[in-house]
Amino acid sequence: MSQDIPILLYHSVSDDPPAGFTPWAVGRALFAEHLDMLRGLGRVCLSIGELTELTRAGAPVPEAAVVVTFDDGFSDFASNAWPLLKAGGVPATLYVTAGLVGGTSEWLEPAGAGRLPMLGADDLGALADDGVEIGAHSMTHPQLDTVGRERAWREIRDSKDALEAILGKPVETFAYPHGYHDRATKKMVADAGYSSAAAVRNALSHAGDDRFALARYTVMADCSAEHLAGVLDGRNATRARTKEQVRTCVWRQVRRLRARSAR
Ligand SMILES: [Zn+2]
Repeated sequence: MSQDIPILLYHSVSDDPPAGFTPWAVGRALFAEHLDMLRGLGRVCLSIGELTELTRAGAPVPEAAVVVTFDDGFSDFASNAWPLLKAGGVPATLYVTAGLVGGTSEWLEPAGAGRLPMLGADDLGALADDGVEIGAHSMTHPQLDTVGRERAWREIRDSKDALEAILGKPVETFAYPHGYHDRATKKMVADAGYSSAAAVRNALSHAGDDRFALARYTVMADCSAEHLAGVLDGRNATRARTKEQVRTCVWRQVRRLRARSAR
């Protein structure tokens, strides 16, 4: 059996997040502890692109591999997260909500999570030049499996085009907003030319995982370095199943019905 490959999902590193967003904002000191723990355990940190290249080629993934990803593209990635990652030699994949570059996190407001400033185009260029892998995270952060096919396709394709125009290089990976996806959205991601996509699932990925729905573990603000170490070694998290669980499918039907009645 091949080893587990933990893919961590962070959103924000901040000591002063807006009220309502605190569960997703990991404090700076705690984030530094997480990175120290990774180093202390001798974990081999890869980007999503590096991992995908290995698994696509059927090449062995380094033992103790771990991937650090950030979703959304909040401006605190540049000010708080990347300086610590870079100092620790940890690569990262940053998934950016491409229609809100330079703006604010409009999609969070209805959920009462406030408005966070987003990275601007210049920030993204500088981060990419500095070695950050930039991936797409749709244009406006909708639930792609409930918005209708045409809109989902535009969100997936246009975010790739928009980020490539900013960066002047290919954008190879996509992350589903909220992790929500289905067979149709996965096919759209492949058709749009991405080589991988990240889901959520709060489980550990592995070499046989679905390349277009990679399992990630969401790191919340209250996740101690000790707890995270237990996630990495499988004490506090399990390996992702290859097939989608029935519970997820039922929840999707509920969300679809809600989306329909809200139109
Ligand atoms: Zn997101």
